[in-house]
Amino acid sequence: MILKADYEAKTVFEINYDRLKEEGIKIIAFDLDSTVMKSKSGEFSSETMSLFENLKKDFYLIIISNNSNPDYIAKAAGQIDFPVIAPAKKPFTKVSKDFLQTNNLNIKEMVMVGDRPLTDILFGKILGCKTILVDSISWQEEKPVVRLARRLERIVNI
Ligand SMILES: [Mg+2]
Repeated sequence: MILKADYEAKTVFEINYDRLKEEGIKIIAFDLDSTVMKSKSGEFSSETMSLFENLKKDFYLIIISNNSNPDYIAKAAGQIDFPVIAPAKKPFTKVSKDFLQTNNLNIKEMVMVGDRPLTDILFGKILGCKTILVDSISWQEEKPVVRLARRLERIVNI
């Protein structure tokens, strides 16, 4: 399997959401850390909150995170009014699939957006939805070693 996302964008702010809508996408699942929230910050920026507000007009939003810290997740969930699935154990799909089925959400109408090929993108591939790979939301602040690790992960095909 070649681990190539359907689309790539610099960050969640550069995704072409109009095109997703035209393609029949109705559900956007975002990874949390580094995708829509600066890693370990515990808070969505005002820019991210505005993005969510705009997207909610056209899409059903969900956050699917591997973060297993219940306090951190509760704090993130408390800032938004849509579901947070965590810990989701990506790339495994059981936890998320159960949620999608219970809520009658169609996997074919969903896109998974994340910053990690080996968890987020692989998860989307296994689940059978569209995928978008983004760089970290705070890429300007990342250390060189983290940048290198990101680059290496992006050239791994499995
Ligand atoms: Mg992430």
